Amino acid sequence: MAPHVAVIGAGIIGLSTAVLAQEKIPGLQVTIISEHFSPHTTGDGSAGLWMPYCLKDTPQNKILRWSSKTYDHILKLWKSNEAGDVGISLIPVYKLTEKSGGEDMEQPEWTKVPLAHHIINSHQAQKLASLSDSKFTGGTHCISFTLEPTYFLPYLMQKFKVNGGKVLHQKVESLQQFCGQNYDVVINCTGVQAHNLVGDKSVQPVRGQVLRVNAPWVFHAALEGNEGNYIIPNKDNVILGGTQQEGNWNTKPDPADSMSIHNGCCKLMPGLK
Ligand SMILES: Cc1cc2nc3c(=O)[nH]c(=O)nc-3n(C[C@H](O)[C@H](O)[C@H](O)COP(=O)(O)OP(=O)(O)OC[C@H]3O[C@@H](n4cnc5c(N)ncnc54)[C@H](O)[C@@H]3O)c2cc1C
Repeated sequence: MAPHVAVIGAGIIGLSTAVLAQEKIPGLQVTIISEHFSPHTTGDGSAGLWMPYCLKDTPQNKILRWSSKTYDHILKLWKSNEAGDVGISLIPVYKLTEKSGGEDMEQPEWTKVPLAHHIINSHQAQKLASLSDSKFTGGTHCISFTLEPTYFLPYLMQKFKVNGGKVLHQKVESLQQFCGQNYDVVINCTGVQAHNLVGDKSVQPVRGQVLRVNAPWVFHAALEGNEGNYIIPNKDNVILGGTQQEGNWNTKPDPADSMSIHNGCCKLMPGLK
């Protein structure tokens, strides 16, 4: 009999893992068990921009390997006849900073991956600053993808079901409950909830909040440094961000954060006022 795999979690990682397992091992039985599904997973709130961030002390070789594999996968989808269904766009991305000295800074390894990555010199930065209410002195530019989870998650779920996958809507209280059940392998794709499910305290939340606005005239992404505000266009709206609050488990929108995101993004792109 074909082996039976349980995947816990139906976010971007759970669904990608489940579909990949089906594709790699034809005939494999795969069941996704999850408390929440799209549109109620973490990715549903995100713009889906390909750009490594929140990296802390992750080794460069790992960032390069993971980010280039992801980039290649997205590129393959973009070139396929499914590109329109999966929510992919190729967009220019400007990351600008008010800090000086950026031109001489060594660029991280992953910057070799995207198209047209280059450092913006102070002269170009001044020109870009004139589009905003900020005093940018440098930054970087590249062309990258958005792979929008609001489109990609339903696409993956449909693919999973067409491939014969099964879905159980339930919360897993403990991995012990799989003892004596008919699964050969259990894959934990619970994201930040691994902190609670398997007691992995090295997995910590970084709280992100965004606004979605109607601004169909925005066709490029503008990011303020690595940790500032950002503006990323999606197909149906534009995402304004954001927060990066380490250790914060709050999943409710905070009005003070909304105000700060709105003000910061209007400074970055005054037309949003
Ligand atoms: C505001 C914001 C913006 C972001 N922007 C970007 C971006 O532009 N680009 C980018 O690459 N990344 C971005 N990210 C990060 C990205 O969204 C996440 O890294 C990604 O969505 C995590 O996916 P996941 O599948 O690991 O986890 P999740 O989406 O959290 O999925 C976990 C799944 O496990 C299930 N689950 C958890 N515990 C249990 C349990 N005990 N029993 C059963 N099921 C359980 C949940 O119900 C859920 O289905 C952003 C994040 C935020 C918050």
